[in-house]
Amino acid sequence: MNSVMNGIEALVCALRAAGVQSVYAVPGYPITELAEHVIEHMRPRARWVISEKSAFEMAFGGSVSGRRTCVITKHVGLNVLSDPLITSATHTIGAGLVVITGDDPLALGSQNEQDSRYYGLLAEVPVFDPNPHNLMGCVASAYMLSERTRAPAIIRLTSRLLEAECALESLSIPREPLSSYDHGVWSLTLHGKHQRFYRDAHPLMRQEAEHTSLNRLVHRGEDVVISSGYASYVVERALEAGGLDVSHLSLSLVNPLPLSLLSRALSYRRVLVVEEPYPFIEHHIATHEHVRGRTTGHITSTGIGEEDVLWALERLDTEKLEPEYVPQSLDMRGYRHYICDNCPFLPLLEALSELDVPVAGDVGCVIRSAPEPMAAVDVALALGSAVGVASGFPEGGIAVIGDFALLHSALPSLVHARAWSIDVLVVVLKNSVAAITGGQWLPELELLDDVVRGICPEVRVVSCSALDRDGWHELLSTLLEGHGLRMVIAEGVCPEG
Ligand code: SF4
Repeated sequence: MNSVMNGIEALVCALRAAGVQSVYAVPGYPITELAEHVIEHMRPRARWVISEKSAFEMAFGGSVSGRRTCVITKHVGLNVLSDPLITSATHTIGAGLVVITGDDPLALGSQNEQDSRYYGLLAEVPVFDPNPHNLMGCVASAYMLSERTRAPAIIRLTSRLLEAECALESLSIPREPLSSYDHGVWSLTLHGKHQRFYRDAHPLMRQEAEHTSLNRLVHRGEDVVISSGYASYVVERALEAGGLDVSHLSLSLVNPLPLSLLSRALSYRRVLVVEEPYPFIEHHIATHEHVRGRTTGHITSTGIGEEDVLWALERLDTEKLEPEYVPQSLDMRGYRHYICDNCPFLPLLEALSELDVPVAGDVGCVIRSAPEPMAAVDVALALGSAVGVASGFPEGGIAVIGDFALLHSALPSLVHARAWSIDVLVVVLKNSVAAITGGQWLPELELLDDVVRGICPEVRVVSCSALDRDGWHELLSTLLEGHGLRMVIAEGVCPEG
């Protein structure tokens, strides 16, 4: 490498080199710091958005108008934007649209590990999985391939890549000449759109996957390791440290997979697949008896290190290994056993824990009140889910949810509860920031009161400083005696945020 910078800085350089005109980001581990950096260096072209679906739709609007755009989201945010993402490939886009998504191997700051590469299969769009040597090159290729195929491209990252020393490349990212709106799409049936996609776009993706220098097979010996993304970097270091003559197929364009390169790799005597968090590549080739990896117990966990690669290589002759339990730290999101001592919502959450009704929480700070000894909430499914889940409690119950989560994705459930007079008490923790991700402020949060007053017939706004635990207990007990949709907005200032 001529010159190095960390993954965050390298991405900012690449986005600027690509001439990206609009970036829409939703905070969440592990991409919060990246997005903050992008917003700082690309303002006013980059901004926070409250929902990934809105972010993608705005990026799409910019793309079809001829602007290169980008969405930055964490892996579970990809679930939220998947609806327009999947349709956009056959609808066609305009200028390059790239979704940068952060996966979280070991779930250090998330409710699951989830592997974003699978969205490439579902949406039939290219997926890039960069390593520190080619991160900037992946951004360039993603924009160019997105424009040639008129489909969005996904770049999958992990926290280790963002922190790694990455190669600084001088990029030239030419633009495809495009007419801004593809009006030809309206003369095609739904099936016709898909046929056109398979005729025009898919062969370009396959060709690129086979011939790009981002996918490389280095021949060194009769065994081979197949890897992708940051894991490729770990594999190279492991082979170097172990002084091993093992061949290496390193992939950074993983959807579509380069089938002829994979077929060449499968002709080696023994094959080990090293990837995270899920066995995405391995699932495609696991029927070959000499393939080892996660499904055979050779790769035991995510967060793969050099020692894990060397350990697996020593055991290639063993067909299946016993699973190993990997202890994880308790001081993780979802398992952290405490709300901050100085949290303004603490008395409210303590009062909740004393009420004998089911409580649906959310995966913002509220989830920290779920474990014993506080046990304030009974379930917490996903961001924005509390109102819907509590509306499903047969005898009624409480939804406790942050202001960010409510506006992110709980409004349809709120409307449903109002329309069907469902007995649910919604407790909104309003601190006007996205507290759990570091206190990002979004202008949408200022609109909370106006939005909910149009939906809820009964809204009480209470300052957290006005009530102690007993006061909250009394207020919530009184509100629980009512029927239909009721809401209390608890206002507090998050000292951490
Ligand atoms: S980050 Fe803020 S809102 Fe979240 S628990 Fe701590 S003090 Fe409360």
